Formats: sequence, C-alpha cells, structure tokens
Amino acid sequence: MISLKNWIEKHPKWFEQSRIDIEGGHEGWRQLIDDVFTAAEQILSDNPGALFRITQVKEKLGALTIYFRHEGLPAADVDRLRGIKFIARERSLHVCEICGAPANLGALDSCLSVRCGSCAPAGWLAIYGDRSRTISNP
Ligand SMILES: [Zn+2]
Repeated sequence: MISLKNWIEKHPKWFEQSRIDIEGGHEGWRQLIDDVFTAAEQILSDNPGALFRITQVKEKLGALTIYFRHEGLPAADVDRLRGIKFIARERSLHVCEICGAPANLGALDSCLSVRCGSCAPAGWLAIYGDRSRTISNP
C-alpha cells in the first residue's frame, strides 16, 4: 500500500494546488486511495494527452471523498473513474480512517467519523453499528 504522500511524490502534477484534508497519521484509507489512484494511473496511461488534477482529498460526513478535474478523457473513462471513486467512498464507511480495521460510521458531538472499536474516542456512538452493507466490485 502506498501512502498519500508517496502518490504526491509519484505524480506531482496531479496534486498541483490540491487540498489534502486527511488528518496526519490517519492511514486507514490507504488501500482505498490506492485503488482510486491506481485506476487513474491506468486510465491516464491510455490517454497520455489528458489533463488530470486532484482538487481535494478529504473526509466528508465521515466518508473518504476525492474531488478531481479532468480534460480530454473519453466519457467511458470518466464514468470508470467516477465509479471507482464512488466505491472507495462507500467502502470507507466500513474502514477505520485511522487504522484500517473494520469499522462503523459514528458520531461524537454531531461530527461524523468512521472508527473501529479501538480508535473510537470516548463518547463516540456508532450510527450503522447494527447494519451490514456490502458493496460489490463491478
Ligand atoms: Zn481503528
């Protein structure tokens, strides 16, 4: 698994002017981020003239959220990228943002986060604790 920092080193152009709002030390979503950026790498290698920029990587309402802009990609590849990003976001609702263990969406003082039992702070309450959702890979 590659950390976000290494992706930035590997593809500095992708991250020109991007905002990274994942808290330092939170490495639980590395695999999910890898899946999105590995797919982007494949798609861009098929479209060497295309422009691709990550505008923001953040946790939004508890979930991994990646924003990007692009120019010159075929519609089918744009759909593929969006789909992969969507799956990563859905999966992130079940992966602890800090350590990567199986986790639930929960809240502390109405601030949403995805935490496993070990990483949840005192007072944090799971929202989907009794609900299992599985997302299948297309
Ligand atoms: Zn954890």
